[in-house]
Amino acid sequence: MKADAVIIGAGIAGSALAYHLSDEGLKVALVDKDYPGLGTSGRSAGFLTVQHWNRLDLLLSRLSQEFCSDILQEKGGLQRVGFLRVTARGEDIPLMKERTRMYRQEGVEAELLEGKELEFRFPAIDFSGLAAGIHTPGDGFVDAYDVTTTLASLARANGTVMKMATTAQRIEIRSSKVSGVETAQGKLSADIVAVAAGAWSGSLLRKAEISLPLKPYRTQALVTAPVEGLPLLPMFHELPDGYYFRPDQDGILLGDGTEYREAEPTRYNTHADFGLYSEIAGWISKRMPTMKEVVLARGWAGLCVATPDRYPLVGPLDAVDGLYLMAGFNGLGVMRSPPLARALADKILGRRPSVNLAPLRPGRFSGNVDFPIMEGFTLQDTLGLSKSEPSMERDLE
Ligand SMILES: Cc1cc2nc3c(=O)[nH]c(=O)nc-3n(C[C@H](O)[C@H](O)[C@H](O)COP(=O)(O)OP(=O)(O)OC[C@H]3O[C@@H](n4cnc5c(N)ncnc54)[C@H](O)[C@@H]3O)c2cc1C
Repeated sequence: MKADAVIIGAGIAGSALAYHLSDEGLKVALVDKDYPGLGTSGRSAGFLTVQHWNRLDLLLSRLSQEFCSDILQEKGGLQRVGFLRVTARGEDIPLMKERTRMYRQEGVEAELLEGKELEFRFPAIDFSGLAAGIHTPGDGFVDAYDVTTTLASLARANGTVMKMATTAQRIEIRSSKVSGVETAQGKLSADIVAVAAGAWSGSLLRKAEISLPLKPYRTQALVTAPVEGLPLLPMFHELPDGYYFRPDQDGILLGDGTEYREAEPTRYNTHADFGLYSEIAGWISKRMPTMKEVVLARGWAGLCVATPDRYPLVGPLDAVDGLYLMAGFNGLGVMRSPPLARALADKILGRRPSVNLAPLRPGRFSGNVDFPIMEGFTLQDTLGLSKSEPSMERDLE
């Protein structure tokens, strides 16, 4: 089969790219070894918050909120319950003040709450041991599986050929130019190939002798059985431990259990660790004493992908004409990938990207860099990048 573009991976990133390219009239083939949303995207907690350590992510989250609200109109849209990020460390308060100021400068409704103010505003939560929190009432969550499958359906309605249950085995390159993808079901020819294969992107590229700093790591979530008389709750994230929750239909979704070591994507444990159930049960019964009797019904694990500077790798691969990459979302792929897919589609079509992709170019690291896997969802600028922060301005390329 001959297509204009082959996209490998029908997660949120690849499905969004397939939607945008097919909407512009390109003949797209979307390939997945499984089915849309069954990789990491369907395992996500779906937080869409503007509370980041940098302005680029703030912009991406806002765009993702707008976009997801739009496409999910028939499925309830964005659940705008607000986001409360709290800290147990008094020394975080100056940073929280600084971030609150930054969010407001960008036109986001945000306030810093301390001590009794927290209890007054959120009476269902026990704030013992916590110093302060930033509340952003405009934030919400989505079901990322719904977003992904909706995007895949829209792409299909635009004429995208869905090659599901089809593993991409090799990217075909001739004279430094991409010519297609070899799959278990035969060859797909195209002058444009985009790799959006999540945690599997690095190994697929290595087969084409392209080595990039992408490290998969495992992270986990649990859900409760329905809870009777569930109070109105915001999305909630506690620092420094990293535990979080949000409402989930009649119950609650909770995380974290992130492992800061490289995982092997071909054989990782997709179930939540047994120990995480008791760890999270202990935490939630402290934060919400009315939840003591709550049953944690099931859990799972998924793979996120780390990069050295916690920004994703998005754009053309310099060494090979026609080959593009969109991966390394550092646990923020629902917030980051819908607008970045739009921008990458612009780039592929030879237009000015709607978001400046230059700072995210995949070739920005030289040589074989080793790096520690770090939490992506923080207030701290752990690498001190804010001074050289990728610009959030649009149309800069
Ligand atoms: C527990 C958990 C909570 C999270 N919470 C949030 C959150 O609140 N907010 C947020 O923004 N992000 C969150 N994330 C991160 C987010 O889910 C990911 O960043 C995002 O889903 C990555 O999307 P993707 O399309 O790059 O990858 P994936 O969804 O993994 O898609 C990649 C696809 O490629 C396919 N594939 C791989 N190799 C091949 C091959 N050789 N041939 C064909 N197909 C192939 C896979 O089958 C898969 O479908 C969370 C993740 C987890 C695990």
